[in-house]
Amino acid sequence: MLSEFDIIRRCFDQRGLAATKDDVVQLGIGDDCALVSVPSSCSLALSMDTLVEGVHFPSNASPADIAWRSLAVNLSDLAAMGASPRFFTLALTLPEANENWLMEFAGGLREIAGRFQCFLAGGDITRGPLTITIQVHGLVETDRAMVRSGAKVGDQIFVTGSLGKAALALKLFDNTLGAVDEKDRAALLEAFYRPLPRVEAGMALAPFVSAGLDISDGLLGDLGHLCEKSACGARVTLPEIPVDSLVRAILGDEKSPGVAASGGDDYELILTVPSGKLDGFLDAARSVSIPVTCIGEITDSEGLVCVDSSGNTVNMDNHSYRHFHGDR
Ligand code: ADP
Ligand code: MG
Repeated sequence: MLSEFDIIRRCFDQRGLAATKDDVVQLGIGDDCALVSVPSSCSLALSMDTLVEGVHFPSNASPADIAWRSLAVNLSDLAAMGASPRFFTLALTLPEANENWLMEFAGGLREIAGRFQCFLAGGDITRGPLTITIQVHGLVETDRAMVRSGAKVGDQIFVTGSLGKAALALKLFDNTLGAVDEKDRAALLEAFYRPLPRVEAGMALAPFVSAGLDISDGLLGDLGHLCEKSACGARVTLPEIPVDSLVRAILGDEKSPGVAASGGDDYELILTVPSGKLDGFLDAARSVSIPVTCIGEITDSEGLVCVDSSGNTVNMDNHSYRHFHGDR
């Protein structure tokens, strides 16, 4: 049986995963606290997310996938502020100290930590039902963060990437998707377990954006949050929503736009752009090779209005997609 000390030393305080001393992290894993200094020109952006087995991921998920997803969803919040990731802390609750499980978990964490240059600076381990809590920390220049409250009437609404794959993975989990071939199944699971948070996009596009947030609960639901915080409305042209090509291939033209509009877990960004900054925004997106699609416009109405390609209002009652994460 591994002691807590053994787990930390063998699994977490390892090269490529643990934060080493730099200009921000003065002291990492191993003392009573980590020590951090924030440059005077920056704010520290921090966010926390908890994933519970059986609620946020199925019980048969691989430890490396769970680790990737746990850090990815946190990094997505930094991306949504335009912040640069620096370090994270990890509170791990485990039913038992299984060394194989822990090594695989730490391996998945090391992969994504390296990919986004965001390293582990401390944490805690306790016994109980499998639960992973990560708090991520990043830097953003003071007063430059993309907040939800800055959208203005007339701003164009953009979304990064394409939508719908993670929502289809959830349908796989509850066996409501029907037959899909092995390759497509793997692509859907990859989208769910290994989302690539839009960190680079957030940092590159923040200077041109009036408001932004990441899509965790679904495009329309999250856009609704942005409108609420900005005290404005939005008009969304449904056929403009970038439906993932695999989702379209599996569900067909009729059903796929609804899933892309309402399904969660893709971790793309919604960004609002004032007309004066449109050219700069599009240039910046091109220069970092981030696909962005304009899906509508901020309005002075109350709430969201969805329209078809001829401008006719479409009734979208079911904004929040009911899925596996029943409690979110
Ligand atoms: P304390 O008893 O003072 O809370 P711990 O024994 O819990 O200290 O932790 C010792 C050190 O190991 C601390 O630096 C803590 O941040 C680190 N640590 C504990 N658990 C983890 C973990 N899951 N991941 C990374 N570091 C951890
Ligand atoms: Mg202590």
